Amino acid sequence: MLIKPGAMLGMLGGGQLGRMFTMAAQQMGYRVTVLDPAEESPAGNVAERHLRADYLDHQALDELGATCAGITIEFENVPAPALNYLAQRSIVSPAAESVAIVQNRIFEKQFLASNGFPVVPHAVIHDKADLAQKIDAALFPGILKISRFGYDGKGQISVRKVEDLPEHFANLGYKSCVLEKRLPLASEISVILARDRDNQITFFPVPENQHINGILDTSIVPARLPDQITEKACEIAKQVAVQLNYIGVLCVEFFVLEDEQILVNEIAPRPHNSGHYSLDACVTSQFEQQVRVLCGLPHGSTKLVQAAVMTNILGNLWESGDPAWDQIFCHAQTKLHLYGKRKAKIGRKMGHFTVLTDSIEEALSQTQTIRQNLQ
Ligand code: ADP
Ligand code: MG
Repeated sequence: MLIKPGAMLGMLGGGQLGRMFTMAAQQMGYRVTVLDPAEESPAGNVAERHLRADYLDHQALDELGATCAGITIEFENVPAPALNYLAQRSIVSPAAESVAIVQNRIFEKQFLASNGFPVVPHAVIHDKADLAQKIDAALFPGILKISRFGYDGKGQISVRKVEDLPEHFANLGYKSCVLEKRLPLASEISVILARDRDNQITFFPVPENQHINGILDTSIVPARLPDQITEKACEIAKQVAVQLNYIGVLCVEFFVLEDEQILVNEIAPRPHNSGHYSLDACVTSQFEQQVRVLCGLPHGSTKLVQAAVMTNILGNLWESGDPAWDQIFCHAQTKLHLYGKRKAKIGRKMGHFTVLTDSIEEALSQTQTIRQNLQ
């Protein structure tokens, strides 16, 4: 079914991803209602309407369903029952079943492994009894990750040896976890794709992602890797989308090892921070594509117009006062995006900037200059 401009769309979640979806939708003539319990939110501040209620508040969900022709999400922790409830009367994508799998690291790993996708060696730990079982010594040094609600490296602890596991499991509140072997990564890449109800799939150019302390720092596009690696990642991501029956924009994060082996790290059922470069560097952004697929419109071209380096701006930058934005504005081919968050906190994503050039070397060197001068 086609949802035409002028219609109201629903967005579950009020963060920056919801904000950029809202702005893309509004540009195309749609209106947006955001559901988010927070008093104020980046998306709620720009949407036509902000319903301040819990994601499981039936009155709010009824209101959303009655007024929105199509409904989507901006973060994976939306309760699956809320999506199921909404789907009784509205177009909802992605579906509750897909989101329920990827919002839980244990289900996600089981889904990937059982479908034959390459994953990091790991063990699942539900409770103390699992710790008493023999845990493969080859998983150390490892990383213990809580199964739900982790993001930006939060809810993760490095575990050097098996003897340290009980203490770290306690530190994570005895919540169900995945223990992953820490691998030496040659690089990280991500595939962002859109899949519609007719199994049409479009891919965005593959970015190479650099993280600092578990938080995405920089995305370089196109990735400086052989085509056969990025093509293989796209093929895997496509199969992931198909096996998940996924409709919408999806991101699959990959680890690339020294021997060029690639492993699926995790899946995000939404546009992704590593796809923000598409706002300025592609014909169609990941957010416009999210609107298009939700509304049953044809996919937009994902052609890369220029090489790009996207750098996240974290709250840390405000430590010694307001950042020197003129250091960005004086570069004619650099774009600043701020998400309108009132309070800068350490590690909080406040915005990003994207340097556009004809060569990645030039974009990287300009990025370096801007970073040094911003604070
Ligand atoms: P989040 O949900 O916080 O993004 P990830 O599992 O993607 O969690 O981990 C964040 C980052 O930490 C990864 O992008 C990678 O840089 C690093 N990391 C995570 N797991 C591993 C691992 N098993 N081996 C090496 N590095 C890892
Ligand atoms: Mg990640």
